[in-house]
Amino acid sequence: MISKEKQTNRFECDVLVIGGGMAGFYAAIRANQKGLKVTITDKGTVGRSGFTPWANTFSIFDESLGDDPQEWIKAVQSKGEYLVNLAYFNMQIEDSLARYKELLNWGIVDSRPEEWDKTSSISSRKYLLGHDRRILMPKILKEADITMVQRVMITELLKDDKQIIGAIGFHMESSEIMLFSAKAVILCTGAGGYKAPGYPIHCSTFDGDAMAYNAGASIAGKDFMDFHFTGDINPWDVFQMEEEIFVNRIYPTKGPELEGPSVSIDPIFKIHKNAPPLNEFLPKEPPPKNPEDYRNKGKSLMPKLPKGNIVMGAATGLGVHKSEGIWPVNNECYSGIPGLYAAGDALASMICGAAYPSTGMGLSGSAVQGYRAGEAAAVFASQCNNSTVSSDSVTSASERMFAPLKSSRGFNPRWVNQVLLNTMAPYYILLVMEKKRLESTLNQIEFLQQNLVTRMKAKDNHELRLVHEVCNMTLNAEMKLRACLMRTESRGNHYRQDFPARNDKEWLAWILISKGKDSKMSLKKEPVPQKWQGNINEPYEKRYTLRFPGELEYLENVGGK
Ligand SMILES: Cc1cc2nc3c(=O)[nH]c(=O)nc-3n(C[C@H](O)[C@H](O)[C@H](O)COP(=O)(O)OP(=O)(O)OC[C@H]3O[C@@H](n4cnc5c(N)ncnc54)[C@H](O)[C@@H]3O)c2cc1C
Repeated sequence: MISKEKQTNRFECDVLVIGGGMAGFYAAIRANQKGLKVTITDKGTVGRSGFTPWANTFSIFDESLGDDPQEWIKAVQSKGEYLVNLAYFNMQIEDSLARYKELLNWGIVDSRPEEWDKTSSISSRKYLLGHDRRILMPKILKEADITMVQRVMITELLKDDKQIIGAIGFHMESSEIMLFSAKAVILCTGAGGYKAPGYPIHCSTFDGDAMAYNAGASIAGKDFMDFHFTGDINPWDVFQMEEEIFVNRIYPTKGPELEGPSVSIDPIFKIHKNAPPLNEFLPKEPPPKNPEDYRNKGKSLMPKLPKGNIVMGAATGLGVHKSEGIWPVNNECYSGIPGLYAAGDALASMICGAAYPSTGMGLSGSAVQGYRAGEAAAVFASQCNNSTVSSDSVTSASERMFAPLKSSRGFNPRWVNQVLLNTMAPYYILLVMEKKRLESTLNQIEFLQQNLVTRMKAKDNHELRLVHEVCNMTLNAEMKLRACLMRTESRGNHYRQDFPARNDKEWLAWILISKGKDSKMSLKKEPVPQKWQGNINEPYEKRYTLRFPGELEYLENVGGK
């Protein structure tokens, strides 16, 4: 019995936070402020793993700088194409400034010269270089007496017949079993991609979605893609984006603008419609011998490569920030499974709807929701008694967790990951979609799940972690393909070549995905409340100002609008 062979380390707390990015940081801080015993765990290192270290803008709503709530709401609704959850968006309006001021006090960002506030232009509201959040975040948690358990890959949530009672994982160095008992668990596990060589986000593999789905929660937002920009010479490699400087200062942004396009998938359409030969963009000169010459000294740490055209692929597999993840059944980040909460990129809060409306909403959304989830989980936990995790459930979860180490034969998870990436990455699968292509890709993913994913073998802890991540990424791929097939329209960052127009009659709705009784994936529509649908009587071209390729011709033919 594996659980008897390996040492089991036990941790007891009131609130367990899984994931140590901005959402997890705030969830832990808030639950701790409410007087509860909090543990935070991360498969990497708190403050250094996930997306949080790379973000450099933070969106704040500040009435004293002239921000108008109605203008913000109108802009985000229009850019998110009427799939925005306004209850969660209102939290941004209510809380983002307070969270920002706390970050300022902690020194995670520096104060700004006063005259910058007198103008409303985004560039003039930049803040000075902040201190290193990767050092400060763990320090602040430690000072608050919050237990940090790092380098732990959590593989399963533990449940009794009433509620979630903890989680189990293994330690990346010692390979020991890490068993957490808690009265409430907050998933702050971030979003994910398929480990393309682009953004440095390889620990982000949709683990929270998979764990919550297996525990009975619903998942949403898988039908909107945002792979992020890169160049077309090697579309999955972000190093062509010479302007991108990672781990920079954090500065605030103004929020969604009423005019102009949202951050959208527009460039991919341009390439698709009129792609010039790729070799036109290949380097004309051989690479310089001295690697230093690659660098743009003083500006960027990135090697300078020829840029080519802008396409998408830097975070292949990623959805719209804050739109994909665990579906909240109320306005308190609650998953609907007693004791289970989620925040940040792991929560389908839908503050952005179908397309990312403005820079800064990612990081600030995680701070705002982390705080709210910490508070709600603390209230729940303070009304609960301790539950004991039975030794039987520890044994069976450990056996599932370590099984790939025991296999004598099997596929290497690195190769299976590569197959998954190659299957899902081409732009004509998830960015320019069509029924037959989606169906044939789903067919391949099902083959992968049945024949490869179930037969992976791990020779050490690193491969073991990858086995679990590949399972989670493949489950996510299935969710994406099924949701994209179901949404028979185009909207925001969801473009169907065979349905290239919005269809308000059918699709002012989110798609919720859950595990059916037969263990099969089940999808259903969740209508957007009427009060959040905007003016549906507005003329089509006015309501939707961005055009999809082929949209107007399609509308002429079907007589729609
Ligand atoms: C390159 C880049 C640039 C960006 N720029 C901006 C920007 O300028 N402005 C902006 O607003 N947003 C930006 N974003 C988005 C923003 O960073 C995210 O929306 C935000 O940081 C998410 O925070 P989070 O805490 O929800 O998740 P994350 O920061 O991703 O944290 C999730 C944590 O969970 C841990 N975890 C995951 N699975 C497990 C598991 N199974 N067991 C244990 N731990 C686990 C991970 O290791 C990670 O530490 C950027 C993202 C990237 C990648």
